Amino acid sequence: MFRTQPAQNSTEFKSDFLIRSTFGVSLVSSLLLFPLCINSFIDGRNFDGAFGLFTCCLFVINAIACHRGRYFYWLNIVGVVPAFILGSANGLFSLGVMGSYWPALCLFGIYFILPFKVAKFVNVIFLIIIFAAAYHTLENEMFFRFIVSLTAVSFFIFLSMKEVTYSQNVLKKQAMTDPLTGALNRVDLPQSLQNAIDECKKYQTDATLCVLDIDHFKRINDEYGHDMGDKVLVDLSKHIQSLISSKDTLFRVGGEEFVILMRNTSLLEGKLTADALRDTIKSLNMLENKVITVSIGVTQLKPEYTWKQWMKQSDEKLYFAKEEGRDRIVA
Ligand code: GH3
Ligand code: MG
Ligand code: MG
Repeated sequence: MFRTQPAQNSTEFKSDFLIRSTFGVSLVSSLLLFPLCINSFIDGRNFDGAFGLFTCCLFVINAIACHRGRYFYWLNIVGVVPAFILGSANGLFSLGVMGSYWPALCLFGIYFILPFKVAKFVNVIFLIIIFAAAYHTLENEMFFRFIVSLTAVSFFIFLSMKEVTYSQNVLKKQAMTDPLTGALNRVDLPQSLQNAIDECKKYQTDATLCVLDIDHFKRINDEYGHDMGDKVLVDLSKHIQSLISSKDTLFRVGGEEFVILMRNTSLLEGKLTADALRDTIKSLNMLENKVITVSIGVTQLKPEYTWKQWMKQSDEKLYFAKEEGRDRIVA
């Protein structure tokens, strides 16, 4: 049902959860709000009716966008959130105590349509404005009860969403990490390559991809056992991490196959790093009486490449490196 667009980078305000929750809130809100708008017009409260219809339109646009897998951050932050605030404040001014039910619902809405790190600040601003409106419209005792209940609701939503966000991040990290080596697995590889391609196009920079495979790894398993084979994979991964630059990303994409994405790196720089890796790994003595070698295919990104073509080129070069006798790089 939902086709999520690829996120541009890891910090972007897009996630499956946010798109689904924004869709749910927008759809239900528009359906509930519409009859209320009609009612406002019938009662002669034309301003309320027009404002409600405007908010309904925002919800409908939001719901359609989310249904298409898009999340419009600015529509929510400068459209829906102000509508929540104005609607809640207007409810208090025009309906008094009866209007005091809406702010709690709007608070829920805020946490479901905004990324958590933004929603918690909007929550504070929302409370300040709504408390100011309530101060002018509610009697003292009612005002006090309103403050206590809305603060409690706000705090409970904050705690639940904090927990949800934390669990999501932990699960996401687990899903993207190879449990044996701690390197990233292939789940995030297409997105990372696509981000690197977008970055290169935008900033006119270079990027280079290395596909590294341990030579005759099957023999290592056969001679030393599967556990020692695992140990080699863990050690190798640690050494690669320590040898590559902090802007490079290591993925374990298969049994004994790794991919290194080198951002801001030309072919020459990539070749130098790959050769240094090959040399260092060979001299590491990870197993007694056994020299472990690797073959590496190195490809610089070309403007016409898709991420699949970039990967395919690197795989082909790795294949040539194996064909030519292993323990070498082909670029
Ligand atoms: P080549 O030089 O052509 O790459 O030969 P190779 O033996 O390295 O490649 P091949 O694909 O024939 O064998 C890969 C082996 O890697 C087979 C499989 O048992 C082993 N392997 C895959 N995953 C793991 C793992 O997680 N742990 C261990 N110990 N071995 C693994
Ligand atoms: Mg191999
Ligand atoms: Mg292999």
